[in-house]
Amino acid sequence: MGDRWRVEVDRSVCIGSAQCLHHAPSAFRLDTARQSHPVDPATDATEAILAAAESCPVEAITLTLLDTGETVFPPEE
Ligand code: SF4
Repeated sequence: MGDRWRVEVDRSVCIGSAQCLHHAPSAFRLDTARQSHPVDPATDATEAILAAAESCPVEAITLTLLDTGETVFPPEE
């Protein structure tokens, strides 16, 4: 891919289901309140992180291009 992404988790909607950790265990961690955090908020684009965002049942994860701010996920309508 070659892109760099900003990874954000909206913790007001995260329900701690841990699907993101299942798909990208090195990219997310749960805190003691079972809220997900990106390990590195500015990271190389990977299929695993995209899969994590797609798997989140509440769409708490957003991915944007680091250089332009363009939305990668969720796809814009
Ligand atoms: S998959 Fe979504 S709801 Fe589940 S822990 Fe990750 S960010 Fe939170």
